[in-house]
Amino acid sequence: MTLVPPGSTIGIVGGGQLGRMLGMAAAQLGYRIHVFAPASGPANDVASAFTEASYHQSDRLAAFAGACDVVTYEFENVPLGPLALIAGEVPVLPGLKALEIAQVRYAEKGFVRDLGGRTAPFEMANDVEELVPALERVGLPAIVKTVRLGYDGKGQARVDDMGQARQAWHAVGRQPSIVEGFVDFSHEFSILIARGQGGATVAYPPTWNVHRGGILHRAAVPAPASIAAQAAEAAALAERVAAALDYVGVLALEFFATAEGPVFNEMAPRVHNSGHWTIEGAETSQFENHIRAICGLPLGSTALTGRRVEMENLIGDEAAGWPRILAERGAHLHLYGKDEASPGRKMGHVTRIFAA
Ligand code: AMP
Repeated sequence: MTLVPPGSTIGIVGGGQLGRMLGMAAAQLGYRIHVFAPASGPANDVASAFTEASYHQSDRLAAFAGACDVVTYEFENVPLGPLALIAGEVPVLPGLKALEIAQVRYAEKGFVRDLGGRTAPFEMANDVEELVPALERVGLPAIVKTVRLGYDGKGQARVDDMGQARQAWHAVGRQPSIVEGFVDFSHEFSILIARGQGGATVAYPPTWNVHRGGILHRAAVPAPASIAAQAAEAAALAERVAAALDYVGVLALEFFATAEGPVFNEMAPRVHNSGHWTIEGAETSQFENHIRAICGLPLGSTALTGRRVEMENLIGDEAAGWPRILAERGAHLHLYGKDEASPGRKMGHVTRIFAA
């Protein structure tokens, strides 16, 4: 176990809002933050050092690694090669195995299925010729998802009849994709756990997630009974995944609640949008627990601070409603400092704590 004591410098690869909130949690514990990102963004506003460079500029990466005591990442599409280069010089946590698996949907689903997780039927389609047989094996309706670089419902297309196969292939940008059977679910939920360097693990209560247009709209805790009944099985799976990866940090797994039980959808080897409620709604936020884990500190309690907590994302123009939110009692406003509010862009969030 490597203790990285307060006063040390934590490197964050990636410059988005997750990096910003990680940075704020780290600062609270007395750490300094060094952000490495290709462009200025929400994270470097709260960092004491910022390297603005491409992930492929190995000299800049090496200098960054040399200036940090531990390095973490805030999005899962960081190229692996450059991170592997610095991993020899400075601890990179969570380890690269988690990143490698989470970057490829097909590998991710197979990995979790091998650990006993339930998944939708899924098949690989490397080109349009493989798409129709894959759709036939999986059955319709199905969803075609790019195997890499998909998030927030981007790079996805639904297929209800075989006549739509070519159109779907074009919609996902004619890239290697996985074809997934459509899951008949009552709710979506996520499990967030934090695992420390010695293997100790804490889990947050399951979070009920409501999406709009493939983007998280609202996250609520406690989750309804139909999710709560499936949470123990899902959390046990998350712990097996984390143990198999010798994982350190916060890990998020997303599930569909179905009549057969929890169906795993995807995982994120990082702090997660569905855990933003933990900043005010849990005794220790996901961001603080991630920092504690990668620095070798004891993990903090995940208990709720109120009876009920709801987080709502402020997407695009919704962030313009901030004066109204500020006037609301019990509402905690977070704005990410992004300049342009384009449609679908996450500009901030609001967390509401309900005492009763
Ligand atoms: P993803 O990028 O995989 O998280 O997908 C974005 C959203 O699309 C999910 O949160 C679901 O609402 C929906 N979705 C994804 N995969 C499936 C599936 N196999 N069956 C039904 N809905 C899905």
